[in-house]
Order: sequence, then C-alpha cells, then structure tokens
Amino acid sequence: MSALQRLRAARERPTGQKLRVDPVVCEGIGQCAMAASRLVHLDRWGYPIVPTEELGASDLAPAQRAVNSCPRHAMWLEETS
Ligand code: SF4
Repeated sequence: MSALQRLRAARERPTGQKLRVDPVVCEGIGQCAMAASRLVHLDRWGYPIVPTEELGASDLAPAQRAVNSCPRHAMWLEETS
C-alpha cells in the first residue's frame, strides 16, 4: 500500500460516531449546511439531510462545525456503539 493509500485509509477510518438531527427542534435555518456543505444537504424545504452511515475520520471536523453552527442545538454527534 502506498503512502497516499495509507493516508486515504486513515482519513476514512470509521469513528464510531454519527451526525444526528432532531427534526422537531430543527427550524430549517440551514446554518449547518453552510458550515459543512460536503456533509449536510438541505431538502426542498430547507431541512437538513445528514449521512446515515458512521462518519469517517475526515468527516469529524466538518460535522463538528455543523453541530456548532446550529442556533437551535438541533444537531449533535452520537456514539454508534
Ligand atoms: S442549523 Fe440547526 S436549525 Fe438550522 S437547519 Fe441545521 S439543524 Fe436545523
């Protein structure tokens, strides 16, 4: 395995965390999608669609930015196990 392949594998290493959103608390303000556009997308009504699978290591920083950006505290990181 090349150095680049090892680096890519490390970045995609599972973290045991998922990005979650509370649809009752969320007001569709969209700050989370602006903070982490690669990870969070908005549906046609402006509500976030987050990955259902466990986050990779390279997703953690943008996921934390999305969590921190939410003025309603409707988004959080959750341990999967
Ligand atoms: S920033 Fe918070 S309230 Fe706004 S869309 Fe994202 S999760 Fe919902």
